[in-house]
Amino acid sequence: MSVFRSRLFAILLGVLILCSIAASATEPDPHYWRLADIQAQFDIWEAQYPDIFHQTTIGTSGRRVDIPMVRISDNAAISEAEPRMLFHGALHSNEPNGTTAIMKSMEALLLGYGKNPATTARVDSLEIFFVPILNVDGHHHVFSGDVAWADWRKTLRDNNQNGEVDFPADGVDLNRNWDWNWDEYDEDNSSSLKYKGPFPFSEPEIAAVRDFILQQRPVVVVDYHSPVTISWRSYIFWPWVDNGGGGMGPDAAVSEDVAELWAGATLNEDGNPYHDIYAYSTLPKEQCWVYGRTGILAYIMEISDHCWWSGAQVDTVGARVARGSNALVDRVLEGPGIRGQVRDEGTGEALVAEVKIDEMHSDLVGPRLTEAGHGMYHRLTTAGSYTVTASCEGYFPQTQCVSVASSWEQLDFDLVASTSGVGPAIEYPWLATAHVLGSDHSVRLEMPAGLPSATVELFDLRGHRVGILGGDLESGRTHDLKLPDQISGGVYLVRVVAGDQRQTGRVTVVR
Ligand SMILES: [Zn+2]
Repeated sequence: MSVFRSRLFAILLGVLILCSIAASATEPDPHYWRLADIQAQFDIWEAQYPDIFHQTTIGTSGRRVDIPMVRISDNAAISEAEPRMLFHGALHSNEPNGTTAIMKSMEALLLGYGKNPATTARVDSLEIFFVPILNVDGHHHVFSGDVAWADWRKTLRDNNQNGEVDFPADGVDLNRNWDWNWDEYDEDNSSSLKYKGPFPFSEPEIAAVRDFILQQRPVVVVDYHSPVTISWRSYIFWPWVDNGGGGMGPDAAVSEDVAELWAGATLNEDGNPYHDIYAYSTLPKEQCWVYGRTGILAYIMEISDHCWWSGAQVDTVGARVARGSNALVDRVLEGPGIRGQVRDEGTGEALVAEVKIDEMHSDLVGPRLTEAGHGMYHRLTTAGSYTVTASCEGYFPQTQCVSVASSWEQLDFDLVASTSGVGPAIEYPWLATAHVLGSDHSVRLEMPAGLPSATVELFDLRGHRVGILGGDLESGRTHDLKLPDQISGGVYLVRVVAGDQRQTGRVTVVR
């Protein structure tokens, strides 16, 4: 990878070329968005586009300031079973171009909805969340023109507890405060611009991002930065290579594929596309944590080739990034990938389940869980054949195979409860006497009296229903139920459902 070979040179260059600010400037260019201007713009948009624009907050800052978040989608006020994406800017408060890019992305979605078919599809079929400024406290400090504003990337945590904001003694780097390789990262000098903080998730800004991700399970998370003190200019970093020697993460092929597509569609000011490169899992960073703990594809973009712009260029830089991000949005919209819902087979209730793809699995990365509201999962893949297993405590796991070509494949899982299930406690072990009778392969069911009539179904251990053994079975009687002729030897599950009561047992068929 030629990009990688140039890395060392780039690092050396980076420490020499710091983003230089005109020393005479007292505050950033007025073309950059301030928090108050964003809030005013949101009020206007919400009035104009109430169906597709919904204002909320992702949380509050260390100084108890609300951190604005917007959901753009059809029926924006409610949560629907649609893939989610999260874009946030200004985790580092002196890196303002992500904020501009996000405002441009939102504007394009709102103006194009109902007019441009591609834009309309994005809004109708996705839930896109935008947080233009994550580090609102630091951002206020930067944009109020205080001393050292251009260098202020941290929060405003009062490390020395003197009631004032001291540079560089105060603040925590929000991209070093995650519970990931925490002990290995030893930057505990609070005056460092990369200070990790007193303990993991000490900063409420990133605790809010963490909680959003765990609840919403977005397909991708985008963390916009601007190159301030490094020279990773116009780069997209994809997750990740394990620095402990574990190699590439199990999603590396698709993670890189997505980054290449997106980088190729995003043009820099010189008219050339962005670059992409893998990240390392080393640091207590958002990208490392998100992918490592949840398997969600988390990207960092270092916007453009320097940090601070002036005049109309501020908007031009943001608009280029916003246009390029359509390639990422459309990849999530169109696939390829595997998606579906995991539900209780009996009740239809959404389940928080692990969905494992054998071909994209490694213990380096935490379990891929469905989101709680709809039991949804979405895994971007490359084309190929995959073996997918959904598992959830209290249910029999279920495995399905699927071939993915160029779009999303829908793979739903209706899991069968492995316990005696819903409804009142059952006093009688109905299936204690269930067994296979001789060569005719029947199951004997002894139904206690006083129950509704029962249905008896047979499942294999992957959770697939093999057949219905009987319906409308009277209580207070013994039923011998013949198994299907075609089933092979092995262990099966027999489930009896009588009204809202159910019981499941195992039978072994010997051929
Ligand atoms: Zn940054």
